Amino acid sequence: MDNTCNKVSDNVKNIEISGIRKFYNKIANYPDAISLTLGQPDFDVPLKIKNEIIASINSNKTTYTSNAGIIELREEICKYLSSFNIKYNPEEVCLTVGGSEALMDVFMAFLNPDDKVLIPAIAYPAYESCVKLIGGRIVNYELNNDFSINFDSLVKKIEEEKPKLMVVSYPSNPTGAVLSKDDSIKLHDIVRENDIILISDEIYSSLCFSTDYYSISQFEDIKSKVIIVSGFSKMFSMTGLRLGFLCAEKQYMDSIMKVHQYNVSCAPSIVQWGAYVGLKECMEDVEYMKNEFIKRRDYLYNELKNLGFEMHMPEGAFYMFPSIKAFNMSSDEFCERLLKEAGVAIVPGTAFGTGGEGYIRISYAYSMNQLEECVNRIKRFL
Ligand code: PMP
Repeated sequence: MDNTCNKVSDNVKNIEISGIRKFYNKIANYPDAISLTLGQPDFDVPLKIKNEIIASINSNKTTYTSNAGIIELREEICKYLSSFNIKYNPEEVCLTVGGSEALMDVFMAFLNPDDKVLIPAIAYPAYESCVKLIGGRIVNYELNNDFSINFDSLVKKIEEEKPKLMVVSYPSNPTGAVLSKDDSIKLHDIVRENDIILISDEIYSSLCFSTDYYSISQFEDIKSKVIIVSGFSKMFSMTGLRLGFLCAEKQYMDSIMKVHQYNVSCAPSIVQWGAYVGLKECMEDVEYMKNEFIKRRDYLYNELKNLGFEMHMPEGAFYMFPSIKAFNMSSDEFCERLLKEAGVAIVPGTAFGTGGEGYIRISYAYSMNQLEECVNRIKRFL
């Protein structure tokens, strides 16, 4: 074996590059293919945010900020969260380099080698890879057919495996499911009764399509057991500007902050100022984007239903996760053939964990024209 490979850590060797990227990279071989693979909204960053970022450069707000980030933005985040009935104070908020850094910080702050983390059987792939990078172990809990939490499986796994952490993520990438009020109450009871810390990834909270938003972080009596991971990539369509945040009570924030400090010192200063203006002045842009996503969701849902796909109506984020079991192909085969024969790139459900076989993920963060063209191509393919 190549000697350089021997020097790479086992934890790194044991993880693969993301299945989403893997498929995205294949598209390069098919110049006429349309890609519905990435979670990258196709809207421009709201103008006031862009202008604030430019103004921040011109007024030299380009130095390190405090490790946690500028207080003005942390205060605005607390106001934003309180509009969802989630109560944090600015000392409990830390700005990060995307939600991605926030996730890694939290896992690093909590996990010793072989500590166990409960992750949904269908989930955003970074959870599993981050945990493995640190030497932690994955325990999957099952989801029901509508992608809600299967509480029997969850309770059993907690009893048998005694995990230290648990991840929930609603609105969900890849399924588009949201947390119902009943399920938030059931989850609350489980967290209260068990010795477990829950990481709630709420990065798509601004893209919850119903007016009611339910989250485990709304329960104040278990606040000491819940950590929120979130960010602005999706909210302000600024994935490349790399700004996220996490919220935790002081007892944990001090430890998480050590990881954050030695990883990145602070999040990008000018983008923090941009997001500050975004939360104060651009929520109408966010509402506009949400309504556009709802139109696209409705269009795609109806078309795919008519084509015979079995699926649940997504209630948030900008993904659909139809079943392809009726077509007698594995997820990988379906996606390979759809790319080769029809020129449409989507992601096999298997990129999202053990429960993803038999499904495909379609991102509808693409223009209506592209969606229409893809629907026509899928029709011909079938
Ligand atoms: N959580 C989920 C569920 C995501 O889908 C993503 C990005 N696709 C992230 C976290 C990380 O996003 P970012 O680092 O861009 O903030």
